[in-house]
Amino acid sequence: MSRLLELSGLTAGYGGVRALDGLDLHVDEGEFVVLLGPNGAGKTTTMKTVSGLLKPVSGQMRFAGQDLAKVAAWRRPALGLGHVPEGRQIFPDHTVLENLALGGFPTRRRKAETDRRRDEMLEIFPRLAERSSQLAGTLSGGEAQMLAIARALMAAPRLLMLDEPSLGLAPLKVAELFGYLKRLHDERGLTILLVEQQASTALRLADRGYVLERGRVAVEGTGAELREDPRVQAAYLGQL
Ligand code: ATP
Repeated sequence: MSRLLELSGLTAGYGGVRALDGLDLHVDEGEFVVLLGPNGAGKTTTMKTVSGLLKPVSGQMRFAGQDLAKVAAWRRPALGLGHVPEGRQIFPDHTVLENLALGGFPTRRRKAETDRRRDEMLEIFPRLAERSSQLAGTLSGGEAQMLAIARALMAAPRLLMLDEPSLGLAPLKVAELFGYLKRLHDERGLTILLVEQQASTALRLADRGYVLERGRVAVEGTGAELREDPRVQAAYLGQL
């Protein structure tokens, strides 16, 4: 498997706050990797730094063989980096279809290609097809999350980064959402980096995982290894 994303010695922060402190991690092509860790461990900051919302202080980021330091943030989606940030951030005053069309923009595809991908998304997420002309701001939490994911997929990312997509969803909706992620990975070979608080479920889905603590990797291993690890069990007591 070829290495798609590789972070080494990554350090980043906000003013005086050091959020990442020498982070090393990688995601190989076709992998499903989960990032766990307590609040404030640096999970969101990792994704923000990779997508370019935050500039690292030091360290290296390589994506698809390129040095990300040399790729402007706005060019990263076209390179294949997809990011569904925490809180979804869909366009509430636009319809479902308009949101999907906007998702195709970074790659500047031809209209026929955008339309084909949009139809594919509506096939994957039938709920969105039923609600295609509804304003995104009126969707339920679960539907809005599906739209955020479908929109990111419109750009045909090589890596999809998802920041706590389950946040605020009812348990049944979380199961449905994770079912979609698993199918996108298993059936379409999508490479996924997922930040998730629901450790148990996430570790069952993922090929591998990392537990971050204070901006660096504290534990890493396969999903099964992490579920057996006493440190992980201690941190997520009762959940696994
Ligand atoms: P959570 O699970 O709570 O979302 P996280 O692992 O995603 O946590 P980050 O959001 O990456 O953690 O935050 C890492 C550290 O950086 C924390 O100490 C946080 O308080 C700090 N931090 C995050 N965003 C900012 C900001 N905009 N300004 C200042 N400090 C910030």
